[in-house]
Amino acid sequence: MELLNIKHLNLADKKVFIRCDFNVPMDDFGNISDDRRIRSALATINHCIDQNCAVILASHLGRPDGEIDMKYSLAPVARRLNKLLKKDILMANDVIGEDAKQKVAILQGGQILLLENIRFEAGETKNNKEFAAKLADMAEFYINDAFGVSHRAHASVEGITHFFDDEHKAAGYLLQKEIQFFGKLIEKPVRPFAAIVGGSKVSGKLEALVNLLPRVDKIFIGGGMAFTFLKQMGYHIGASLVEDDLLEDAQHIMDEAKRLGVKFYLPVDVIAADRFSEDAVSKIVTAQEIPDKWMGLDIGPATVRLYREGLNDVQTVLWNGPMGVYEMEKFARGSSKIAHFVADSYATTVVGGGDTADLVQRIGLDEEMTFISTGGGASLELLEGKVLPGVLPLIKKEEE
Ligand code: AMP
Repeated sequence: MELLNIKHLNLADKKVFIRCDFNVPMDDFGNISDDRRIRSALATINHCIDQNCAVILASHLGRPDGEIDMKYSLAPVARRLNKLLKKDILMANDVIGEDAKQKVAILQGGQILLLENIRFEAGETKNNKEFAAKLADMAEFYINDAFGVSHRAHASVEGITHFFDDEHKAAGYLLQKEIQFFGKLIEKPVRPFAAIVGGSKVSGKLEALVNLLPRVDKIFIGGGMAFTFLKQMGYHIGASLVEDDLLEDAQHIMDEAKRLGVKFYLPVDVIAADRFSEDAVSKIVTAQEIPDKWMGLDIGPATVRLYREGLNDVQTVLWNGPMGVYEMEKFARGSSKIAHFVADSYATTVVGGGDTADLVQRIGLDEEMTFISTGGGASLELLEGKVLPGVLPLIKKEEE
């Protein structure tokens, strides 16, 4: 699958609309706590500036649900862009209102205008055609560099693409990189290829697990989802997180793994707590001996050793989902130990966005991984084998 490439567009001196994903985490004081997503968009923005384009940037931030809520203003993003690009950033007070219209009309080559949060407009998430047309009217070219929302059929991601022909739209550098990376990982991984899958529930990752099975050599399960498998195996899991309606699916996955010769690893011990709290009483127990009413909130030390052993010879690692409740220090150790091991290995290491990216960043290992995706949900859908709605219109058609 080849995407329409920004490098092949005749952008010189033109007006360009770039959909970015500046949906960055903020602390209680409105400071950006991780600007990875902004930094990841710089290559595409600089490419356009180098060609003297008038650049219009659009993004969402949080979920203002179609209402103007200044808590979700992109003003802090404009300030960060200004710092990173060492360039003035013009900011519109609205998305398609008078202010944006005026500023777009007088925007000169080499200037950058950031529109206000695109989700202040209800038409965005509804993929409203009229709204998409108004966005498209602003520019001669459309670039999608927002991998993190490309699994959403929203107006600035999907709807807008219908107003540009193949000579006037493309994927930006970040989107290209993400799609290529996951494509290669799924189609031609260097083997042995292991997936480490954790997080809260099987349900959120069921399809991804099923799709990964025929492609990987080993799977290591952690997090809350492990308990549905353990219960299905007949273990007593106390009050641990479980999805009883997915026990059969869990069995199916384990049967498939066996049939395909995939080594399937489950935790052999856990950190059990008497309640879901940082100051819970906790102890290390084997998977066979989780007490009644106690819940497993992290993988235990024997599991860490086992997983390290199993990961030793691996050449490619895909990691999606924490091994425990990493937000609480007491239950972060399993994830942290696995993160250090993965980071130190010589394998190609790919972190699938969302919580896992956050976890790796908190430990300070983000520079040690080969690739950290900017999209948790989007990367999961790629692993499920789906073509993302924001990517589909940017696929290069085969020449006849
Ligand atoms: P997900 O969004 O499905 O990737 O899940 C991420 C969340 O799973 C994190 O917020 C973790 O705190 C949570 N999590 C990980 N392990 C457990 C566990 N053993 N029990 C409950 N929640 C967990």
